[in-house]
Amino acid sequence: MRICEIFRSIQGEGLTMGVPTVFVRTVGCNLYCSWCDTKYSFTGGTEMSVPEIMDRIGNCRTVCVTGGEPMLQKDIYELFDALLKAGKKIVLETNGSVDLKDVPKDPLMMISMDIKCPSSGMTDRMLDSNIPLLSMKDQLKFVIKDQTDLEFAERYLNDHDVRTNVIFGPVGGTDKLEWLVGEVLERDIDARVLPQLHKIIWGDKKGV
Ligand code: SF4
Repeated sequence: MRICEIFRSIQGEGLTMGVPTVFVRTVGCNLYCSWCDTKYSFTGGTEMSVPEIMDRIGNCRTVCVTGGEPMLQKDIYELFDALLKAGKKIVLETNGSVDLKDVPKDPLMMISMDIKCPSSGMTDRMLDSNIPLLSMKDQLKFVIKDQTDLEFAERYLNDHDVRTNVIFGPVGGTDKLEWLVGEVLERDIDARVLPQLHKIIWGDKKGV
């Protein structure tokens, strides 16, 4: 598996925000979001076997498998298997364009899936067939830049049978939070507005 970086920090996003986590970031992505903050993970990295990755993870109970797009790695299921056998909680961060039907249906597996809003330039790449695969142990994330994104997300939630936790976060992790909260309340959208905790603590630093 092609690995960009492995590091221990706290989870900065979503429902598991603040939880000590080892991040396993794979190399490569099939999308090119306009505001992507992990373009450094698109190329390079190191080839690592699943046992080598498990060694680096150590005792940490929660592992975030992220990218890039981790589902592009051919041995990703081998990594899921090893992590679940070791009793680790997995947070799989995936971009919404890859079929998730074979992701293990295990209570320890949390899918954190994006739906890319218009400002990303990637909206037409989303696979709606993944939506029914998400349950209340998972989360669906919308990164919102402007009014067009907000209206798209609201429409998406109205038009799809979403039965999972919905997260709205601003582009950049901390910008325009007050505006976003105001809109969610005003429009009565059933979404949780969250910043990115690591951006509040460390700014744009890599590997945290
Ligand atoms: S899917 Fe994620 S890693 Fe890929 S381009 Fe978009 S933001 Fe970047």
